[in-house]
Amino acid sequence: PPGIECTGLAKTYPDGLVAVSPLDVTFAAGKTTAIVGPSGCGKSTLLRMIAGLETPSGGSVDIGGSPPAETLRNAQLSVAFQDPSLLPWRTVRGNIELALTLARRSIVPSDIDQLVELVGLDGFADARPAELSGGMRQRAAIARALATEPRLLLLDEPFGAVDELTRRQLAQDLPRLWEARGTTTLLVTHSVHEAIMLSDRIIALSPRPAEIVADITVDLARP
Ligand code: ADP
Ligand code: ADP
Repeated sequence: PPGIECTGLAKTYPDGLVAVSPLDVTFAAGKTTAIVGPSGCGKSTLLRMIAGLETPSGGSVDIGGSPPAETLRNAQLSVAFQDPSLLPWRTVRGNIELALTLARRSIVPSDIDQLVELVGLDGFADARPAELSGGMRQRAAIARALATEPRLLLLDEPFGAVDELTRRQLAQDLPRLWEARGTTTLLVTHSVHEAIMLSDRIIALSPRPAEIVADITVDLARP
């Protein structure tokens, strides 16, 4: 799987606000890195630039030799953001099927059932987003992001509305899945506990513009 190399990566918004100052950072292939830092420090901007959803004003992102746009086009990259952008007229299953179709992957109903169960939505595969709680919608978005078996997974506070019990279950199950698949994962979170439970490495950013102020290896023996 590809790693991610950010070189001199910077973002100044058109209104002059410097969200990310030139940042050099490498994320190892197949590892999970949690990104923590105060609200507004530039975490989402960084993630969106890596996802190819925001144009850097300086520097570059290299994903195993390719720019983000190509990785996105080849459906090797999935994102799940705070605001789960599910299509409202499609069921949970329908949303996952669409992601698979766009990624040119085959639709295997039993695989979808397994993912829906993993995120604790068994029995809700045929519900539409409006029938689900905010936390359930976030879990559906996580299932959709995992369905295409991306090599790169970018998560921006994906558990914000998820209840504590499910969150704990996900913190157990997701690292196992990522490890089995060799997924390179970046996780933006406000929770240091979550960062420790889910990741191999934690990067702490300073208040805006984002600079790395701590870079910690997590060595947690997972059951
Ligand atoms: P977060 O929860 O990650 O801090 P924000 O609340 O800062 O997210 O931003 C939510 C959305 O609003 C993002 O898509 C971001 O691009 C947009 N946004 C945030 N601040 C501004 C701004 N000053 N001008 C325009 N859009 C903004
Ligand atoms: P974080 O995810 O750490 O909360 P963001 O990356 O969302 O931080 O935002 C970093 C800074 O950039 C904030 O001050 C935010 O208001 C600003 N910002 C985010 N998106 C935009 C935008 N589209 N236009 C202008 N400013 C933005």
